[in-house]
Amino acid sequence: MILIAKGVRSAKSPFKGLIEPFSLLNVHFNEKKDRPYQFLANAEYLCPYTRLKQNPEAILYGSVILEILYKELEEQQNIPLFNLIHEVLNAIESGVPPKMAHWHFLLRFMEIEGQAFDTGVCHQCGAPLTGGSFLPRSGRLHCGDCRSETSAPWELEAPLVSLLQVLSAGIPEQLPDLAAAPETGTLINRILWNALAARFDSCRTLRSVDILRKVL
Ligand SMILES: [Zn+2]
Repeated sequence: MILIAKGVRSAKSPFKGLIEPFSLLNVHFNEKKDRPYQFLANAEYLCPYTRLKQNPEAILYGSVILEILYKELEEQQNIPLFNLIHEVLNAIESGVPPKMAHWHFLLRFMEIEGQAFDTGVCHQCGAPLTGGSFLPRSGRLHCGDCRSETSAPWELEAPLVSLLQVLSAGIPEQLPDLAAAPETGTLINRILWNALAARFDSCRTLRSVDILRKVL
C-alpha cells in the first residue's frame, strides 16, 4: 500500500520530524477503496529509535536493511519480516553492535524470503559443516569434498562457520571475540552481502553497501 503524507515538508505539518527513516509509527488513514494510494491522517511514534539515529555506524548498517526492504518490496503483509525488523532495530537501540544485528538480519531475511543461506550443512551433499568453502558466485557453503566451482572458493575455518550458525539463530548480546577482529568482521560482511546478491538480482548493487565498503 502507498500512503502519502501530504504537506509533510511544510514547517506547520503535524508530521514534521515523525516521517523519517528508522521511525516505527502507528499510522491512521481513512481508506478509500477506489484508489491505489491513501492519505495519512494521523501518526504517532511507537518507537522513535533515538539512540540508533545518533549512532553513525547504526545509520550505515541500518541503511543496508532499509535499502534491501525498499528494493524487495512486500506486496502482502509479512509478519515474520516485520518482527525481524523490529527485533533487529530494538537490538541496535539497546546497544548491540549494529554490524552484528545487520548480519542476523541478512541471514534471517534470506530465510524468510525462501532463499535461506544454509550455514549448517553442505549445499551439495548435505553433510554437516564444520569448516567449509563459500562459493561467491552461487552464494552457498560447501564442504571440503564439494567445493567445485569455477570462481575461487573462500575457505572458511571451523570457528567462522560456527559463528555464522550462531548469527543465524539469533543476535548475541555482545560481539563474539572472533567477530571483533576487523578482518573477520569484514569477511563476514563480504560473505553475507555476496550471499544476498547471489539470491536477489535487485540487491546486486546496494548504494549503502558501496558506502560501507569505502568507509570500512
Ligand atoms: Zn558436500
